[in-house]
Amino acid sequence: MKLLVVGGGATGSVIVHLLSKSNVASRVALSIWEKARGVGGRMSTHRFEGDALADMGAQYITVPWNSNKPSTGSSIFNESLQELLYSNILVPFNGSIENEVSSSELQRNFVAPGGINTIVKHFINNSKAQISVNTKLVSLDVCKEGVKCSTDDGSEIFDGVVLTIPLPQVSALQGDLRTYLKAHEKVFSDAEYSSRYAVAFAYKQSTHLPFTWSSKYFQDDVIRYVSYEARKRGVVETLAPVLMIHTAVPFGMHHLEDDKQEIIKTVQSRLLMLVPGLPPPVDSYCVRWRYSQVRRQVCSSNGYSIVHQNPMVVLTGDAFTYSNLEGSFKAAEATARMIEEKLTKETTKT
Ligand SMILES: Cc1cc2nc3c(=O)[nH]c(=O)nc-3n(C[C@H](O)[C@H](O)[C@H](O)COP(=O)(O)OP(=O)(O)OC[C@H]3O[C@@H](n4cnc5c(N)ncnc54)[C@H](O)[C@@H]3O)c2cc1C
Repeated sequence: MKLLVVGGGATGSVIVHLLSKSNVASRVALSIWEKARGVGGRMSTHRFEGDALADMGAQYITVPWNSNKPSTGSSIFNESLQELLYSNILVPFNGSIENEVSSSELQRNFVAPGGINTIVKHFINNSKAQISVNTKLVSLDVCKEGVKCSTDDGSEIFDGVVLTIPLPQVSALQGDLRTYLKAHEKVFSDAEYSSRYAVAFAYKQSTHLPFTWSSKYFQDDVIRYVSYEARKRGVVETLAPVLMIHTAVPFGMHHLEDDKQEIIKTVQSRLLMLVPGLPPPVDSYCVRWRYSQVRRQVCSSNGYSIVHQNPMVVLTGDAFTYSNLEGSFKAAEATARMIEEKLTKETTKT
């Protein structure tokens, strides 16, 4: 079976990882199409000139913890977390978060010293998937040979497609997929996402930043969260110091179509008010998270939704569970198991 996974974020990377280790691994040829120039999705890391890093989306991997080990509801996820810890892709968070909203003895926070996108890279590198970046799916048509997936440059036919992209972006796809989506309107009306901006500022190397926290939440109408990137990730600062700011959701929603340069200016001046004494940055980078975190998930979902049986077209992602690595893993695990069962049944029949 030739299977295309659209989206190289947490969900897509875990699907290809799990299928590559499954009983049907030898019967499935996996491809990932990712529209951005690198993988990560909402677990993306920006690299400034000079190599200083900024996690622009997810910050911490927070997991239920019991008797010195992860205790999520999934043994496969627990094992994967142990693997990430063993290979130092994840390490315990040892910094301080000021004004943290909720923390619990039964949970542990982890960070990725090499950038949060190294988690996604780990799963993809430990899979047999062929990855194509800068490859944006624009239209999807079901035909008698399979599913025709088209980019602006050409098309390819697959036996099955898994779409892990945010649901509003699925609705924007062209082709006769739209006809099949009509029967699944509830999936699309259920899901609701927040929007926010992430803005990172890089300062001159060896600049002293005038505070002791690693991250801080603010009750402010522009800025919600600031992290001192190297300190958050627990790495020794040898490069340019970087602060990464998440704007408040109402600000993000209200200014969603604004020019990014204007957003950077607004965030920079508000940051100076909230953290006095900062020098002017030497570089900045802004991401508009139009679909940031899932505010309302798809109701009565088991982690995915099948929009066409044969050839198979499936929707999945954090909208079917909840917005964090655990939620993405849960959606991916359910999807991979469903595909594995389908392929196993087909083998038994033949
Ligand atoms: C600001 C912010 C803070 C967060 N904080 C945390 C946190 O601290 N801890 C945590 O665990 N989680 C956090 N999350 C949530 C977490 O990042 C997401 O739940 C998770 O990354 C979702 O992964 P996904 O693969 O389902 O979706 P995505 O990461 O959105 O992946 C979808 C991918 O599809 C690609 N794509 C879209 N359209 C197309 C197309 N047409 N063709 C090809 N590719 C396409 C996108 O570029 C993207 O890479 C945060 C998210 C944000 C935005």
